[in-house]
Amino acid sequence: MKKEVEIPISEKDLKFIVEDEFDQIVDLAKHNSFCSNCYGKNKVEMIEYTLILNDLNDVIFQGICKSCNGRIARYVEIGEQAKFRMRTEIVKESKVNKN
Ligand SMILES: [Zn+2]
Repeated sequence: MKKEVEIPISEKDLKFIVEDEFDQIVDLAKHNSFCSNCYGKNKVEMIEYTLILNDLNDVIFQGICKSCNGRIARYVEIGEQAKFRMRTEIVKESKVNKN
């Protein structure tokens, strides 16, 4: 069975992978996350997030809802895009070899 890989990455790593689309992706994650507590009530903004790269080469933002302090996450699909693949592999390699 294939082991699921989740690699923590930094914002710098994400910027390296997605280049010009960085701001757009961060904005999407921060302001378009779903919070079950705040749905329909408060504006949801994700704060204090960390980034995870999964085995599909997609990025998961895991953070906190600014309105209610609940834990929220946003999945951003970048793994399907061929243009990011090479740099994603470079980041993965560098993380895996570190330990
Ligand atoms: Zn909330």
